[in-house]
Amino acid sequence: MSSEREPLISSVEDETVQRDSRTLRNRALVWSVLVVVVIFVAVVALVDPSFVSDIGLSGKLPRDPKLAAQRVLDIAPVIDGHIDLPIVARFGWRNNVTDIPLDSQMPMHVDIPRLREGKVGGFFWSVFVSCANPEDEGTDFLKATWRVRDTLEQIDVAKGLISKYPDDFAYAVSTSGIKSAIRDHKIASILGVEGAHQLGNSIAVLRQYYELGVRYVTLTHSCHNAFADSCGMLIPSAPRHYGLSPLGFRLVEEMNRLGMLVDLSHTSDMTATQALLHSKAPVIWSHSSARAIHDVARNVPDEVLSLVGFGDGQRDAVVMVNFNGPFVAADGEADIEAVADHVEHIAKVAGVKHVGIGSDYDGIQVTPKGLEDVSKYPALIAELYQRGWSKQDLAGLTGGNFLRVFEGAEKVAKELQAAGTLPKYDIYDKREDLPIYREL
Ligand SMILES: [Zn+2]
Repeated sequence: MSSEREPLISSVEDETVQRDSRTLRNRALVWSVLVVVVIFVAVVALVDPSFVSDIGLSGKLPRDPKLAAQRVLDIAPVIDGHIDLPIVARFGWRNNVTDIPLDSQMPMHVDIPRLREGKVGGFFWSVFVSCANPEDEGTDFLKATWRVRDTLEQIDVAKGLISKYPDDFAYAVSTSGIKSAIRDHKIASILGVEGAHQLGNSIAVLRQYYELGVRYVTLTHSCHNAFADSCGMLIPSAPRHYGLSPLGFRLVEEMNRLGMLVDLSHTSDMTATQALLHSKAPVIWSHSSARAIHDVARNVPDEVLSLVGFGDGQRDAVVMVNFNGPFVAADGEADIEAVADHVEHIAKVAGVKHVGIGSDYDGIQVTPKGLEDVSKYPALIAELYQRGWSKQDLAGLTGGNFLRVFEGAEKVAKELQAAGTLPKYDIYDKREDLPIYREL
């Protein structure tokens, strides 16, 4: 046996040698671990610069609110849920992309110099066209309107402007696309359709909008449509379907399957509640504020906000606060403090991880004092910092919360598709233009 050949008690000298070699071994081990960690951090930082951003967020913010806001936005720039630049292109230039000078002073709230000043890292270009006149469309929304053609034109003008300024805009259709645009110091440009009246009553049109790059559809604008009831504008509209129509439920399911975000801005409270509970994926309010702060139909009531969250019976969502004067406060009282009140109320009721920014710039007539255009976002961040918001919570507000929700919807779509979920081929039951010829 080997132990028989070893001395029972080792000499003092032997012990010292053994202790020294153990110390050396331990030191070598510690150093190798340190080297491995340093190499790992360096490699990860090179491969994924967002990792560096995360580290950046752990530093202390300057005491000065303006500097602190700049620092937060350097790391976590604004991703705005709703900007109406394409409708300005339509009304102001008849969509002539060549003539639209986005790199100089534009007439409304948005142009490239001001987007840069406002530290914008991305926004949804709303490819909005208005509701048809009710009498033109008919009570069942069946008479032909030009809404699908006009939406295609708005998609076209948005894409034209995005590609006209390749140093400033990067077209994006996914969270990874948004993140890589931000890493490249470009403004991620995503498309959103503002109202299912733009679908021509057809789920097939939804699928084709997705193919064209659209990543959210607002279930209604200010009019009811074949899928869902709207909230109207300042005063609620009388319900038509009492929330979602049967086809509206199928629409939500198809949006989940595609990875198209369900947007609940403009919807009635019943529509919002039903869609929130029915959707398998997280949802958004691309541009809505809090009704408890200012009581108008377009704002989200506390009963609905309380259904948002991570708990049982709740759905993950982000409510992106609207800057439209009449939604923010009484006439003449909309200012930066009032907008911050909306942000804080939503953070209080739904949770700080469920609030974002959806200014509605270029689609509104009255802006709050201090938030006149896209260059002013830093002032809102400074205001909230002064109120005690942490850098993590501010980074969630500016874009992190939205990215989590969008990632959640992407994941649900992947799972539904992997499970073999079939597309929805339901047809609007009021349509009479699709007779079935069985003999064919
Ligand atoms: Zn809107």
